[in-house]
Amino acid sequence: MTTFPDIVPDLKSRMPELRGRLMANAPLKDLTWFRVGGPAQALFSPADEADLAYFLARLPAEVPVTVIGLGSNLIVRDGGVPGVVIRLGGKGFGAIAVEEGHRLRVGTAVPDVKVARAAADAAIDGLAFYRGIPGSIGGALRMNAGAHGGETTDVLIEARGVDRRGEVRVFRHSDMGFAYRHSSAPADVIFTEALFQGRPGDQAAILAEMERVTEAREAAQPIKEKTGGSTFKNPPGRKAWQLIDAAGCRGLTRGDAQVSEMHCNFLINRGSATAADIEGLGEDVRRRVYEHSGIELEWEIKRIGVEADWDGA
Ligand SMILES: Cc1cc2nc3c(=O)[nH]c(=O)nc-3n(C[C@H](O)[C@H](O)[C@H](O)COP(=O)(O)OP(=O)(O)OC[C@H]3O[C@@H](n4cnc5c(N)ncnc54)[C@H](O)[C@@H]3O)c2cc1C
Repeated sequence: MTTFPDIVPDLKSRMPELRGRLMANAPLKDLTWFRVGGPAQALFSPADEADLAYFLARLPAEVPVTVIGLGSNLIVRDGGVPGVVIRLGGKGFGAIAVEEGHRLRVGTAVPDVKVARAAADAAIDGLAFYRGIPGSIGGALRMNAGAHGGETTDVLIEARGVDRRGEVRVFRHSDMGFAYRHSSAPADVIFTEALFQGRPGDQAAILAEMERVTEAREAAQPIKEKTGGSTFKNPPGRKAWQLIDAAGCRGLTRGDAQVSEMHCNFLINRGSATAADIEGLGEDVRRRVYEHSGIELEWEIKRIGVEADWDGA
């Protein structure tokens, strides 16, 4: 397994008042749905937003920073991630508050599912679509996560975050640059909090809607597998899964990675796949789809880190 030079003692000496946890060569695979990939050179779990800002302000500019959420849309490459990986924990970033006017203020470590539940408990409609998305609110802001006719862009009022220089910033909806599974808010920003707008609703009807979402997912998606959800974005006017199916890729394998038989825009790790198997299989699918239909699929899954044979470590 990759081992990076230990940068933690140097970082700690620059940050005497750091309160969060900073670990060298921390495994990441168990922090992702695919369960693959190498370690983080350093993994930082800030105590709260002020601690995150303190850390970023003192982190040397040349150290790369990568943020991860619940790892449900992520391939960590086999050589691991150089620099610092930041993961927000529930202690400092897990609050949910119901506010006046059918609003919810939520820390970005909160799983989407919990937001759907909290909204239902408060009879707030409009957030039930989060019931089926297995990520955190931080990932939802970056990915404009959505399903079943709802998307993050429909419900977000504003988001807070900390930039690479350690400045806390507030982004109104119009600053988020939302598009299909994308936000063009500055790439260095680590979101810490979101404010959502719902509408008055009937609790029983919201719960029934959430139940429908759950059943639809269980029927159509391999949600119990090691997967990253939809691998490719739907090209305008097309469905990625149909293009993949038409190109004969359903069930295709590379090593222990497979195109799901159940939903062929999902890749799965059958047990011992490497990140290179999964990413390589994705590239095989892209090539075959291009040869078959002339359409270039765009990755929705984020791939981070370096390959196993990277020699910069
Ligand atoms: C079974 C399954 C079903 C899925 N179904 C759906 C679906 O219906 N709709 C849908 O939209 N997605 C779906 N996904 C994909 C995934 O759940 C979403 O993209 C989710 O929003 C990712 O959140 P995460 O916390 O897991 O982020 P990660 O996968 O950890 O990261 C994804 C991206 O978000 C960034 N990010 C994470 N946290 C922060 C933060 N605090 N600040 C800034 N950037 C951050 C990361 O840097 C990365 O670029 C599915 C995935 C699986 C495994």
